[in-house]
Amino acid sequence: LLAADGNLGVTIFEEITALAARHGAINLGQGFPDEDGPAEMLDAARAAIASGANQYAPGQGLPVLRSAVAAHQERFYGLQVDPDTEVIVSTGATEAIASALLALTGPGDEVLTFEPFYDSYGAVIGLSGATHTTVALEAPHFLPADGALEAAFTDRTRVVLVNNPHNPTGAVLPRSVLQQIVDLAEKHNAVIVTDEVYEHLTFGPVHIPVATLPGAADRTLTISSAGKTFSVTGWKIGWLTGPAPLVSAVRTVKTFLSYTSGTPFQSAVAVGLGLEDDYFTGAAAVLQAKRDLLGAGLRAAGMDVLPSSGTYFVTADTSPLGITDATELARRLPELIGVAAIPVAVFCHAEGARRTRSLLRFAFCKKTEVLDSASERLARLG
Ligand code: PMP
Ligand code: GLN
Repeated sequence: LLAADGNLGVTIFEEITALAARHGAINLGQGFPDEDGPAEMLDAARAAIASGANQYAPGQGLPVLRSAVAAHQERFYGLQVDPDTEVIVSTGATEAIASALLALTGPGDEVLTFEPFYDSYGAVIGLSGATHTTVALEAPHFLPADGALEAAFTDRTRVVLVNNPHNPTGAVLPRSVLQQIVDLAEKHNAVIVTDEVYEHLTFGPVHIPVATLPGAADRTLTISSAGKTFSVTGWKIGWLTGPAPLVSAVRTVKTFLSYTSGTPFQSAVAVGLGLEDDYFTGAAAVLQAKRDLLGAGLRAAGMDVLPSSGTYFVTADTSPLGITDATELARRLPELIGVAAIPVAVFCHAEGARRTRSLLRFAFCKKTEVLDSASERLARLG
């Protein structure tokens, strides 16, 4: 399967990160922050380890974290979920996505995603044996064209896998598009799996969880993760919420993928989820300034910067520089100027890859001085 995709099991993130390390380049490829998350949460993890919370947690997740997830859904979105039957903890959002797709889909089913799509979606849909169908997000605003969603749904669409805010484009989908997805899922009796790991990282638009829309609650599984909100991508603590029968099906798969997720990190993430509103709004504001800083550097280097309203990422069009193949450029960039980025085409099937062949994705979740040096190096491209 992976060989057929041409990547032999090495993800683009690993490939570009290794190239960045080899050439001492600033890694704006893989999306991880270079500063740690809130001190209270880091202290809570240390305290949990010191107090002996080092053996298996319950498979469903520590009660303290399930309750914190439920409280978070209520506090930010007015969503009520039962921490005992409607929440499971996962080993990052990645495992929740895999468990949901393996639980719900198989050969003969279609799973619909946006294109570009986050890399694990394609791999896991392949593992499940389902067929991967897509609907294009069209530059520059990365929205589906009129009528494209209706055309993409069929009666074999078992799952529509939404990602909002969207990696790699930074798009934050408006309510109208989300409601259209819910209505079409209802019409075709599909389950909505929604990956909202960047829920707190939006720059202007307010994040709208799909599960809050009319008609969505009883067919939507919502996935998030501590990695992005709390700048702890290495902790790999995620969660999934939704109606009890669907959550229970996902839990069965999760049990046999990892059984359980890191115990001391779970109670620490519960502390993070309980932080004051200031933490959440502050994190987004800091990131927005970083987006603007890197955006200015990319523009000064001669690229067209496409709008990003959320996530860690901004995409830039390299065609004003005369580049036609940004994938080839991304492989040479670390050696050429000492900066690494990810080509958007790797998040696409063949046709989408042609449409996005001049686009690069840059991660701006880095210290100001790192972004300044990256901008200086990027200027050498012009
Ligand atoms: N979904 C999206 C859209 C992502 O960007 C990422 C990684 N940043 C993940 C899922 C994986 O999250 P985790 O590290 O919690 O598994
Ligand atoms: N989600 C991160 C990104 O998009 C990378 C995660 C990974 O390396 N698989 O950059």
